[in-house]
Amino acid sequence: MKQEQESADARIYRSIFEGVLSRKLTPGTKLPEPELCALFGASRAVVRRALEKLAYDGIVVLRPNKGAMIAQPTREETRMIFEARRAVERSLVELAAQRASRTDIAALREQLAKEHEAMHRFDQPSWARLASAFHLRIAALAGNAILEQYLTELISRCSLIVGAYEPEGNAPCEHDEHTAILDCLEARDAEGANAHMSAHLRELEARIETSRMPGAKGLAQLLGIEPVQRTLVD
Ligand SMILES: [Zn+2]
Ligand SMILES: [Zn+2]
Repeated sequence: MKQEQESADARIYRSIFEGVLSRKLTPGTKLPEPELCALFGASRAVVRRALEKLAYDGIVVLRPNKGAMIAQPTREETRMIFEARRAVERSLVELAAQRASRTDIAALREQLAKEHEAMHRFDQPSWARLASAFHLRIAALAGNAILEQYLTELISRCSLIVGAYEPEGNAPCEHDEHTAILDCLEARDAEGANAHMSAHLRELEARIETSRMPGAKGLAQLLGIEPVQRTLVD
């Protein structure tokens, strides 16, 4: 297979994003610009372009005068991202149930079988990409480029959360849930597709270990001490 020439900033973007998916780069990891320049043999402008795109997609946080680091999604952000994803994907899957052609659905079934086979062959980063591919394909079949764009953004934020906070070595097979959604699409059952998608995303969210997120616990809880009530001023 011939690969298209990848631009320097796209290569940096991909390396960092895959580093997150494979848990080599964990939330809060610092990304110093000079080191990235040396590592990729790229100019500061190119590195900055990659970091800005990563920041736009919610993977990286750019802090004035402190440089870039891998984003640390909080419990609150995680709730909002999953709520948004459910809202967008339920609409997308309903539209796909109305608009996808027989040929589209047959092709999606083939893609799903390939993903399933690859999922049991590869490690977690590939798995995360393959699991998203099914969702993005449904978005493409819905025939609404604006909703599709929203989902693309939400999925990269979700990938960071799932990559960093799903229990390690415990990427379950989503194949049956995906098949149930696909069966509804084939039967033109928009309501059923909506219900299965919603349940599927709730299960994904339930697996995330929010207890490990920053800000999930106060300092007192982390240290295991009861705050002392101070009423006297000395
Ligand atoms: Zn899925
Ligand atoms: Zn399986």
